[in-house]
Amino acid sequence: MSTPNQPPSPALYRRIATEEAFAPPELLALYRKVLATPPVDPGFQHLMGFYMSSPSERAQHIMRCLQDLDQVRLQHMDESGIDVQVIGMTSPGVQILDRDTAVGFMPQANDILAAAVRRHPTRFVGMLSVAPQDPQASAKEIERGVNQLGMHSVIINSHTHGEYLSDTKFWPIFEAAEAMGTPIYLHPNAMPASMIQHFIEAGLDGAIYGFGVETGLHALRLMTSGVFDRFPKLQIVLGHMGEALPFWSYRLDYMHRATVNSKRYPSMGPVKRKPSEYLRENFHITNSGVASEAAIKFTQDLVGVDRVLYAMDYPYQYAVDEVRILDAMNMSDDVKMKFFQTNAERLFSIPPAK
Ligand code: CA
Repeated sequence: MSTPNQPPSPALYRRIATEEAFAPPELLALYRKVLATPPVDPGFQHLMGFYMSSPSERAQHIMRCLQDLDQVRLQHMDESGIDVQVIGMTSPGVQILDRDTAVGFMPQANDILAAAVRRHPTRFVGMLSVAPQDPQASAKEIERGVNQLGMHSVIINSHTHGEYLSDTKFWPIFEAAEAMGTPIYLHPNAMPASMIQHFIEAGLDGAIYGFGVETGLHALRLMTSGVFDRFPKLQIVLGHMGEALPFWSYRLDYMHRATVNSKRYPSMGPVKRKPSEYLRENFHITNSGVASEAAIKFTQDLVGVDRVLYAMDYPYQYAVDEVRILDAMNMSDDVKMKFFQTNAERLFSIPPAK
């Protein structure tokens, strides 16, 4: 956490941060019940179990920021030069809850966020939370969110109780998202219990590495299962420089073709495009958590400058010096404006500043 003396200088562009988190107290109350009811999912225990009980200054600060949708958040935005936050409910959202609780809380959560956006319409943009535990109810909530709440994007925190959206039972969510033109931010979740132990024993389960591995796997499963052949206009947003998939893309293309041709896995049949082509046509990538000019430029080169966006990952990585680093990237004003502002305006349907 950085405490600046003064905010970064005003820029030619609006700085729109696109992967920013909140957690209403009502959600935390539901989380407390989950944490008090064994057996607790090990990933959830390590993620929210830690943040909600740790006496550390970092954890306490994050919990305070997560719950605020007014003055604390706005002050931090002003101090870090962030004009607009695109906000989603923190991981794992309602996805750790049982189906009935998740479906029951989903509209309340979206109403809470929509009310905050109405209070601060020039500063906040909301992403809809859905409950993949009930794909049909989630599809209806996407329609309600667009039509009644004026929200134009969705956040899903990777797997839901160890299940992946590559399973066709979840595809009503994609159908609704494609029909309503809402991008889906595929945000990390803690790894499922079947995967996490080797990461926990090395301390690598969280944002340091495990999140990226698991969310990258999820994105690949969408590609190889044919989601984008069925829903060609669907747009998925990946944070953390695309969870490293851009760097993998050559090998993914090569080995994907080889594996399909070998007919080795029933789950990996032919699809229309290469993984790198889906990355260029069905994905947008944010730099959340990665203030690396080299990684941003590599990704812009691979998927195009219109598909790479700025994100801070507030409050988990509230680092004002990173804003200055990104402002100072050796990049044309035109491309920097796409990165910080206009790509987000287009993708998240954010009205221009008055
Ligand atoms: Ca995040």
